[in-house]
Formats: sequence, structure tokens, C-alpha cells
Amino acid sequence: MPVLVMKFGGTSVADLSKIANAAAKVQREVDRGYDVIVIVSAMSGKTNELVKWVGETSPLYDAREYDAVVSSGENVTAGLMALRLQEMGVPARSWQGWQVPIQTTSAHGSARFIDIPRANIDQKFAEGMKVAVVAGFQGVSPECRITTLGRGGSDTTAVAFAAAFDAVRCDIYTDVDGVYTTDPRIVKKARKLDKIAFEEMLELASLGAKVLQTRSVELAMRYKVRLRVLSSFEECDETSGTLVCDEEEIMESKAVAGVAYSRDEAKVTLFTIEDRPGIAAAIFGPLADAGVNVDMIVQNISEKDYDDAHPGAVTDMTFSCPIDQVPRARKAMEDAKAAGLINYDDLIIDDDVAKISVVGIGMRSHAGVAAKMFEALSAERINIKVITTSEIKISVLIDRKYMELAVQALHDAFGLDKA
Ligand code: ASP
Ligand code: MG
Repeated sequence: MPVLVMKFGGTSVADLSKIANAAAKVQREVDRGYDVIVIVSAMSGKTNELVKWVGETSPLYDAREYDAVVSSGENVTAGLMALRLQEMGVPARSWQGWQVPIQTTSAHGSARFIDIPRANIDQKFAEGMKVAVVAGFQGVSPECRITTLGRGGSDTTAVAFAAAFDAVRCDIYTDVDGVYTTDPRIVKKARKLDKIAFEEMLELASLGAKVLQTRSVELAMRYKVRLRVLSSFEECDETSGTLVCDEEEIMESKAVAGVAYSRDEAKVTLFTIEDRPGIAAAIFGPLADAGVNVDMIVQNISEKDYDDAHPGAVTDMTFSCPIDQVPRARKAMEDAKAAGLINYDDLIIDDDVAKISVVGIGMRSHAGVAAKMFEALSAERINIKVITTSEIKISVLIDRKYMELAVQALHDAFGLDKA
């Protein structure tokens, strides 16, 4: 039998009637002839509550016990989903991670998959079981302790099962009906995409479009798992939602597929640093050690080129990072200066910026995307503070108060409201 993976997020299993609604969708796929692997999240809000309980009991908790507690929400929904399916006459049973067993590393709280052996579940399918309901977000370490994969990890569980079982597709049921050209709360005319390429989804996911955990998209791209995002709360058929797939499946790509934004950015500038070999390493090494996720990096050219005979040239270095990491970034730079690793005249932090990006694989073959983006922003008199580009993305930092305006202007400029 062909295998289909269906994943239900927290809002899709938030109470018993929603679990029944999800189970009906599973039954329909069984009726269509699939062996189904259902991956469930905890009921919405449950994981947050469990995390809070751990913190209240033990502020410097043992990460192994954190995982033992926090993984339990998924166990409840897996059992309830299996029971509901049995009540409907569908042969189903639940599986906790260790029963499969979903083998992971022992990095508690952010474990990675080592292997998902098929034998146990395949045997049950061979015996007539139609649905394996698997608790998402969890696994078991080589030391036989329960692990979790990091918040949002059930998406990644689903993709990993789809890869392990050669599933025809991995359907991610959630509370939105697909992936949009941009956030519909900001742009009324945002349009649901029928298809989006893995690379594009990866950029959008890591840029703050919160539909899918970034890791799940990386995994889907690596194993070419066709991923579909669709709503639990609508009638759906084979064409519903958004298919995240290989670019080969997308006939004609527009230059830009979507506009993403990230509100909580900060810009850090080091003024008058020496321009010499090793200076970038001396800045970004300590930042990495301090756990600062540096995103954009811009180094000015200096007024004279470095050469061994004429040392003393200076330049400025600017980088961006998430706003909540600014204190760490500042301390790392001040410590590096105090230790004599780097020198700068001034450290200026602008924490009133947002990042806007246009993303599209079509950019590889369309010229003029950057010019069009900058024109659209200039027409709104929005000043650009930092620019970076990659093969399929152009990002700018702007004042946060213009964020919505910029997203709307770019959505219009690239005609994203039209199919
Ligand atoms: N329940 C976990 C969380 O809230 C995992 C998931 O739902 O994907 O992060
Ligand atoms: Mg999620």
C-alpha cells in the first residue's frame, strides 16, 4: 500500500471534537487506499504549560527530565487519536517515540534524528493496521532516555517519517490554509500559493513565515519529500493547500514568490576598526562564542588598502542580529576590546529596524529584481540602511515604523496579488 503521512498541529487537536475532526480526515485517506502514518502535536497550549511547570519546579533543570515532562503532551494526543479512530472502525494504534524506536542524539531539548527503523510499524501494517499514530517532537537517545527535538519539532518528525517510509506526500494540517505570498494580516491582497519550491520555503521559513519549522523544510529538501500545508478546518481534496516541492515541479516561476519580514532585528556598527587580516575573525569569533546569530554583515571599504608596508587603514563593520541578543553582542564586543582583540572608537546599536526580504528562485534568471525593489521603496520614501543578497533573496534593513508599508509596496511592485 502507498504510505501517506498526515501531521496535525496543536490547534488541529486542541480538544476532543477537533481530534474527531482530524480523525475523519484520516479515515478519508484510509478509504482512498493509503496506509497512513499520523504525527500529532500536543493539544495547543499544552507544551507551553509543561515547559512552565518544569521551570517553576527547577529553574536550572536537568534537561533529561525536561524532555520527560515536555514530551508527554504528544503521548496524550497520540493515544486519544488512536482511540477515536478505533471508535470509527479504523484499525489504529499509537506509538511513542521509543516504541518505534525513533533514535536520536542525546542533545536533550534539541535532539537530531539518527535513524527511524521501519520494521515495527511495517509489521503492523502487514498485519492489517491501517493507521500508525506517532507522537511527534520526541525520540529516544542511545542512553535510552526520552529526547525532544526543539519547539515546533513535530513538523520535522513528520518529514522524517515521510522520508523513512517513502511516503507519497507529507500533509501538514494546521490552522492556515497554505503558504501565502506574504502575511495576509499586513497585505489584504496576499494570495495563497499553489506551489512553492523547497529553497523558497526555506528562505521564507527562516525569515519568519512561521508555518513550518525550518528544520522540517531542510529535511524535506534533502530527501525530496513533497510537503503540503493545508487547513484542518476546511474541506480539502488533493489540490488543497500549498505544495512545497522540487523546483522541477514548478512550471514557470515568477522572479519573486513572496515577501517576508522580520520585526525584531537590530543593527550593530563598530566604527573605525583596523583594516587588517584577521579583524573579521576577531569580531565574529567572540560573537559566535556568545551565541549571537549574526545575519547580515557589511564591511565598508577603507580609504586606503591594507598592505604590510602601510598598516593603519581603518574601516567600519555593521552586522544585524535578533534584538534580544543585543546585550550579549554588546558584551562580547566590549570584552573583545578590553582583551585587546579588537579596537573601535564607537559601538552604535540601532534596535529600531526591521528586515524585509523578497524571495524567489526566478531571480536566478530575471534581471532587475534589485532595482525594482529599491525603486518601490524609494517611491514610498523609505530609506534603506543595509542591503544583502543571495542567489534567490534580497534583504534590506529599514526603520521598523515603515515595515508594513514596505511589505505592501513590494507586494504590489512584484504583482504578487495576481496569479
Ligand atoms: N508540541 C511541541 C511544541 O509546541 C512540538 C510541536 O507541536 O511541533 O513546540
Ligand atoms: Mg507548529
